[in-house]
Amino acid sequence: MSTYTPTIGMEIHAELKTRTKMFCSSKNDGNEIHPNVNVCPVCLAHPGTLPVINKEAVRNVLRVGVALGGKLADYTEFDRKNYFYPDLPKGYQISQFEFPLVSGGTLNDVAITRVHLEEDTASSMHDEVTGETLVDYNRSGVPLMELVTEPVIHSAKQAGDFGRALQLLLRYLGASDANMERGQMRVEANISVSRDNNLGTKVEIKNLNSFRAMERAVEYEIRRQSALLDSGGTVVQETRGWNDAKQETFVQRIKEGSADYRYFPDPDLPSLKLSELSEFALSNLELTLPELPAQRVSRYVSHGLKLEDAQQFASNIVLGNFFDSVVVTLGDVSAEIFKLSANYIANDLANILRRDTSDRDTEIQAEIPISADNFAKLIRLLTEGQLSSRGGKDLLVHMMESNTDPEIIAKEKGLFQNSSEEGLLPAIQSVIKANEKVASDYRAGKEAALMFLVGQGMKATKGSGNPEVLKKMFISELQK
Ligand code: MN
Repeated sequence: MSTYTPTIGMEIHAELKTRTKMFCSSKNDGNEIHPNVNVCPVCLAHPGTLPVINKEAVRNVLRVGVALGGKLADYTEFDRKNYFYPDLPKGYQISQFEFPLVSGGTLNDVAITRVHLEEDTASSMHDEVTGETLVDYNRSGVPLMELVTEPVIHSAKQAGDFGRALQLLLRYLGASDANMERGQMRVEANISVSRDNNLGTKVEIKNLNSFRAMERAVEYEIRRQSALLDSGGTVVQETRGWNDAKQETFVQRIKEGSADYRYFPDPDLPSLKLSELSEFALSNLELTLPELPAQRVSRYVSHGLKLEDAQQFASNIVLGNFFDSVVVTLGDVSAEIFKLSANYIANDLANILRRDTSDRDTEIQAEIPISADNFAKLIRLLTEGQLSSRGGKDLLVHMMESNTDPEIIAKEKGLFQNSSEEGLLPAIQSVIKANEKVASDYRAGKEAALMFLVGQGMKATKGSGNPEVLKKMFISELQK
C-alpha cells in the first residue's frame, strides 16, 4: 500500500448541563428514566408555540469559547435547519449557521473553526421484535453545543487526544457531563487521504460511542481509502457508520450538502447583540472560569511533580481532587512531602482503585474510601519514620477496607517501624551470635557483610526494624 497523508476534522456535539431546555422551561434531566415526562407544547412543536432563548446555555457556550481562546460573537442569531425525521417534530432544528457564538480558538494544538448552540432532537428506540419505533421527547430541545475543528488532525491518536481533552474541559467548566456512552457527547470524524497538498474527498463517520471506537474507525477508514485509491478507485463523499462487532465502517447515506437544509434565520427568535449584556462581557465570563486542565498541570509541575503524575491528576478528577485535599490537610508542605503524597496517590492508591482492570487509562470514578484526613496521617507517619515504605503500602491496603485512623490500624497490625535502639538490641545481638563468621568478615573489612546482617536483622524483627537504625547499631556493636 502506498503512503497517503490522512487529514481529519472533527465535529463534536455535547449536551449542556442546564436546569431547563434550550427554548422552553421543560426540565433538562438526562437521568429521567420515564419517557415523555419532561415535555411541553414548545418542545413537542405544537403549532402556535414560541421559543425563548435559555441564557444559561448561551453563557456556557461563551465560557467554552473563552477557555478555548476563541473569538466571541458580538452579533449572533439562530437559524432553522430544515429536515424531516420522526425525532424532530418541528421539521427543523433550531441551530446557528452564519453567526456562531464562538469562532476560532485552539485546544491541544488543534485549531477550532467554530462553536455554536442548537437544540437536541428527541430519541427514538427501535424494537427489533415488534418492529415498532418509539419516540421519547424528553431529549427534544435539550441545549446542544456543536464544535467543529479545522481539518488539521493527522492521526487517529491525535483525534482521540483532542476528543479526550475537550471532554475534560467541558467537565471542568461544568458545561456538560460529556459521557459518550450516554450520548451526552457525540463525536463525528471527517477523514480524507491524499498524496499531495490537496485535500482528498472526505468521508464522515458517525455512531462513535467511545474514543477507542473513534480511533479504530479512523484507522480503518485511512486503510480503506488508501487501498481504494491504490487499486485505481475513487473515494465517494458519504456518511459511514462504525460497526464495533465487525470493526469496520459501512455506508449509511450519501452526504447532503448544507444547501439541502435551506438554513434561514428563525423569525420566532430575536437576534442578539451580546455586547449589550454585561454578563456576557469577556472580563465577566473570565471570572467564572475555574482552573483549567492545562493550568492545573503546570501548577503541579511547578511544585516538582513529574509531568506524568501531573497529567494523571488533571485528567482524573477524582484522584486529582483527592490529592489537592490531602495537600491542604497536610498544611504548609515541603516539596518532598508534596512529592511523596503525589507518589502514594498516583501509584499505590491508583493501582488499588484500578485493580479490577488492567487498563491504565481507566478513569477512576468510584469514590475513594479513605478520608483526606486519614491519608494525610499516613503521609505524616511515613515522613516521621514511624513507618517503612513497605509498612506504608501494607497500611494503605488495610485503610482501603476500613477508613480508620492509620495509627490505630498500624498498632493493631504491628506495622510500626521499630526505631528504638533498646528494643532492637536483643535482635542485633542474636543475629551476631548466629552469624559469627559473617561478623568477623565485616570486622576484617568486608563491607558487604554488613548488608547481610541488616537483612537478617529485618528478618528477626519481622520487617518492623528501621533498616537505618539497624545498620547504625550493627556498626557500633561490631566495633565493640
Ligand atoms: Mn449539529
